[in-house]
Amino acid sequence: MRYLREKRPDPTRLIEEKIAVAEDLYRLWGESFLRDPDLPPLIEAYRRAVEVSNQAMGEAGTFRECYLCSVEDGQGCCKIGLENECTVLILLLNRLLGVNFPEEREVPGRCFFVGPLGCKILARPMLCRDYFCRRHYTKIPEKTMAWVTAVLNEELTLLYRLTSLLRARLEFWTGDFLQELDLTGYT
Ligand code: SF4
Ligand code: SF4
Repeated sequence: MRYLREKRPDPTRLIEEKIAVAEDLYRLWGESFLRDPDLPPLIEAYRRAVEVSNQAMGEAGTFRECYLCSVEDGQGCCKIGLENECTVLILLLNRLLGVNFPEEREVPGRCFFVGPLGCKILARPMLCRDYFCRRHYTKIPEKTMAWVTAVLNEELTLLYRLTSLLRARLEFWTGDFLQELDLTGYT
């Protein structure tokens, strides 16, 4: 993974390389992961936790504020480069969840995964899920925001458990040192 080691990598080439590695891992090990005794139950728990988080964010109004900010005000924070918050392991988790990646960046200047209906991936990095800005804290009561953060905890804990398990299995199966699968590759 050459671009992971570059000081100022091109964000598009970097995410394309990470996607290619995740696709290779999925092709080689996808079936083994889905036959693993521990992984499928965790994946389903994660999928449910994402739904519960989405419902809480919908009820609290955080999605609405992000919609108004992105679509009506033309701002939004899903900017180019942020796709690289996704590590190879998060991308691999998306493949195991049945997500297909876009071939190219659809909206210039925006995250590689932004589409007309919002984010195209299901397993999103922590920064994408647990980032709330001043707009939220001025429009939504503090107690509600604290509740949303508490609900998100389940999803984010499962994300950590899942990516740790994916990494542990890959290390066991391949015997390789796979540290780069955990890196974002920019900053
Ligand atoms: S988090 Fe804040 S800046 Fe980002 S899209 Fe939502 S409202 Fe806009
Ligand atoms: S939420 Fe999705 S579209 Fe937005 S920055 Fe994160 S990965 Fe990209």
